[in-house]
Amino acid sequence: MSSTEVGVKRVYDFAEGSREMRDLLGGKGANVAEMTRLGLPVPKGFTITTETCIQYLANDHRFPQGLDAEISAHLTALEEAAGKRLGDAENPLLVSVRSGAKFSMPGMMDTVLNLGLNDRSVEGLAARTGNPRFAYDSYRRFIQMFGDVVAGVDKDHFEHALSAMKADRGVEQDVDLGADDLRALVGTFKGIYEERKGEPFPQEPRAQLDAAVRAVFESWDNRRARDYRRLNRIPHDLGTAVNVQQMVFGNTGPRSGTGVAFTRSNVTGETSEPFGDFLINAQGEDVVAGIRTPRPLVELADELPEAYAQLIETMELLERTYRNMQDVEFTIEDGALYMLQTRNGKRSAQAMARIAVDMLDEGIVTEQESLTALVDPDQIRQLLLPQLDQSAAPAPLATGVNASPGAAAGAIVFTADEAERRGKAGEHVILVRDETTPDDFHGMIEAQGILTARGGKTSHAAIVAVGMGKPAVCGVSAIRFAEDGTIAIGERAFSEGDRITIDGTSGLVYAGDAPLLPPDPNNPYLLRIIEWADRARTMRVRTNADTPEDAVRAREFGAEGIGLCRTEHMFQGEDRLPIVQRMILAGDDEARVESLAKLRTFQEGDFEGIFRAMAGLPVTIRLLDPPLHEFLPSLVELSERVAVARATGTPDPEAEEQLPKVQQLHEVNPMLGTRGCRLGIEWPDVYRMQVAAIVSAACTVKAESGEAPEVEIMIPLVGFEEELRLLRDQVIDAAELVLRERGETLEYLVGTMIELPRAALLADEIARQADFFSFGTNDLTQTVLGFSRDDAENKFLTHYLQANVITFNPFETIDQAGVGGLVAQAVTTARAAKPGIKLGVCGEHGGDPASVVFFHGAGLDYVSCSPFRVQTAIVAAGRAALDG
Ligand code: ADP
Ligand code: MG
Ligand code: MG
Repeated sequence: MSSTEVGVKRVYDFAEGSREMRDLLGGKGANVAEMTRLGLPVPKGFTITTETCIQYLANDHRFPQGLDAEISAHLTALEEAAGKRLGDAENPLLVSVRSGAKFSMPGMMDTVLNLGLNDRSVEGLAARTGNPRFAYDSYRRFIQMFGDVVAGVDKDHFEHALSAMKADRGVEQDVDLGADDLRALVGTFKGIYEERKGEPFPQEPRAQLDAAVRAVFESWDNRRARDYRRLNRIPHDLGTAVNVQQMVFGNTGPRSGTGVAFTRSNVTGETSEPFGDFLINAQGEDVVAGIRTPRPLVELADELPEAYAQLIETMELLERTYRNMQDVEFTIEDGALYMLQTRNGKRSAQAMARIAVDMLDEGIVTEQESLTALVDPDQIRQLLLPQLDQSAAPAPLATGVNASPGAAAGAIVFTADEAERRGKAGEHVILVRDETTPDDFHGMIEAQGILTARGGKTSHAAIVAVGMGKPAVCGVSAIRFAEDGTIAIGERAFSEGDRITIDGTSGLVYAGDAPLLPPDPNNPYLLRIIEWADRARTMRVRTNADTPEDAVRAREFGAEGIGLCRTEHMFQGEDRLPIVQRMILAGDDEARVESLAKLRTFQEGDFEGIFRAMAGLPVTIRLLDPPLHEFLPSLVELSERVAVARATGTPDPEAEEQLPKVQQLHEVNPMLGTRGCRLGIEWPDVYRMQVAAIVSAACTVKAESGEAPEVEIMIPLVGFEEELRLLRDQVIDAAELVLRERGETLEYLVGTMIELPRAALLADEIARQADFFSFGTNDLTQTVLGFSRDDAENKFLTHYLQANVITFNPFETIDQAGVGGLVAQAVTTARAAKPGIKLGVCGEHGGDPASVVFFHGAGLDYVSCSPFRVQTAIVAAGRAALDG
């Protein structure tokens, strides 16, 4: 669409929209329109579309043609409806200019309140309301917000002037300042603005409006908004809408106020009492800004009972309308309630699970709706976050608000930059702040937990932490920040780097590392959700497990078999490694055969344990994959040892013996070297030994329990049909030999991993030799993208994400178009060549909800993932089946 195109509607009155129009009107705009449609008390206004924002940004930051006139027309209509005019000296209309994207990004973009005030209209407002204190309070707020958001004048300058005024008048609270104080403050604020900005505070209301609209458009691209989108996988090209709305005032006196509320607890999901915060005689941001400590919503029933009752009724209506827990913002002006926002509330993992189950039981949603709309598979893992072991915990240091559940221990850091730096270096840190602001976002991403001295459950820290699934304790008034850069928590002093534990479930803070409990897989709400998912899904979920312990744990989580058992870890144990090394270094066949026989005994034990844990279920065992030099000391280490031995004259026969072999095995690029099936072809004895161990172990377990595991023997890194044909023959030969020796029979499958582009492209040929395929999407991503994972994640991926070359990490979520495209194509051609072939995925993507949806669509039979992600995958597979 070109920016000069005529006939494009860019501005919608609230009365013209609905909640279906989120794409165009943004979430906030669509929802105020919906509330208007429902007949709720919403101040009037209009919305400039998200498309307009994108056009503005693409069009050299200029308004597209025609926008100006459309805004004028809607403004005139608003003025007529309100019976007031923007900037009028007698009866001024005031508006808010509010950002609002399709997906809510709390606090990430900008909003300006009280727009339309100037030196003349403020007098009109004062005279008209008979409340000069209110008029000047609104004007000083406007100058401050406009200065900060539109003109880039740091809000601290205004805050300092405000604090100085309060100190001078000997008062604590903003509300204790009188009309004359605030009038004087307006003068100071205008001075600050002019000094910093180099021009006077703009008096012309339409110029104020246009500048604010631009600022909201620009805020789509600010750093914190971009960071937030990256973390939440929101595309960068959606744009924000701009909502221009008549102001209502919570700051006109004791019968006015403002607040935020949830229809159910966003932390636990309970409905026992209304959840939220409010402030009397306050406006907008005051509640979340932590300037005054807000009061719990229940107390509003005493202060303004009628408005309170109407609010509760409205929240129930909204919850039934949206069929989801709502997070609302409201303002009360002289006893009258106004709804300013509603949206599906962000919630902790605990609350997510409980709300999904409760809303079904209350008859508000169906099972399918609950699973698709109320269950978030990304949060399932957080249900398994560590909790504090209350019974073994030391005495707490301090208490605060239990803002976001789960417990975390780490080193104290005081700035977001430090949290980012240490966190990226792999250290566990707790970010400790007076309060957080959106500018701290990048540090919060890297911290294990958040601790603040001020703010409640609706503070920035709390909301963001809940969204990220991180523990947070807020409003710990026992925290004192000292001048020398240390803090005191209660009686104890702490410096940066000292360790603490926070428990966001209880709101307690502990010195040092308090004991944490492993997670509970039997959360009753989660089990209900799993039942729904089991009913819906068509894909199986297996686990990646290399040990009997992992296999047992995964079965508790509901794993339906093993999709990948790597055998190399079994070679690494300290009782095995020397034998493996002897096998590799063996000078003759006899020595090799002897080492292999010893290894076979170990391997049989390993496999028996795993088969017992997975009795009756399929178990895919991958034959040895990594290059052999990984089992020997590194070339550098050995060379050093030999050099030292020779220089000092102290012999090191082991190093002398190993060095030539390591030199011989050394490769320039081992990832693409002698590994996988290449190893099997060059060293057939190793694979034969492994197959013999697998088959023997299966026969033993079958004899014990009467139930044979479904054995699937998997050859890694195949690219050519001939590789698989050769190795398949060998596998069958070795297996049959064991079965003949034991006089037993066993069903087993022989298949391959698909992790090279060639194998995917020629899946029909490879399928001729395979009973099953398992897409190894970790290596497939490396080989299709040509990205070495370690180098990507440690180096260039961050730059790629920042520069928007790609918008997500392809090792976490499958690259659908590239890697995914190859998978989908291979599925089709393999099934055409061999209709019954079993197809699954065993990369880490198997536990990533977005990737699971893709694999469902591609028609795979199962996904396999780490034990802790099995429940996530089950839920994601259930949702995928319903959505599809
Ligand atoms: P955010 O997306 O950061 O929540 P909002 O646009 O919702 O920003 O504005 C923040 C707060 O400003 C609102 O919760 C409300 O209290 C106040 N506000 C916005 N518009 C108005 C209005 N028209 N009248 C009164 N208060 C408003
Ligand atoms: Mg809001
Ligand atoms: Mg691999």
